Amino acid sequence: MHAYDFRCKTCSISFTLTYKSYRDYDAAEKHCPKCGSIELARVIKRINVQAPTRDYGRMTSEDMLSVFESGDSRQVGQMFDQVAGTSPELGAQFHETTKRLMGGESMESVERSLQDQDATKNGGVSSIVPPPAAPSTAD
Ligand SMILES: [Zn+2]
Repeated sequence: MHAYDFRCKTCSISFTLTYKSYRDYDAAEKHCPKCGSIELARVIKRINVQAPTRDYGRMTSEDMLSVFESGDSRQVGQMFDQVAGTSPELGAQFHETTKRLMGGESMESVERSLQDQDATKNGGVSSIVPPPAAPSTAD
């Protein structure tokens, strides 16, 4: 079972919903058990990256997702650094991204500049987060 913490934006109570799988969580209609509101904020559990033994390389994709969702650039940067730090084929751009994230720059800002770069210079890591599947009109 996976537990997900939420806070109701309408009545402000906090509660936990549990699902058998991430797929179930994704498909479920989530509403406040007290007032029935669907205006919920996901409460992301902090992942302690201060622990030197934190091994992002062994993180599940779900754990990684919650790091992304946390919006904490430093955490994401550290995760990238651990996951890809030993893969030189990922290229300088990736390491630049990691460095900037770890320096505290926001993911939005880093990603936007990567997309700008990608428009002029093809190749490398075009986005730090896989973009939603969009029909390619390049011809
Ligand atoms: Zn509520």
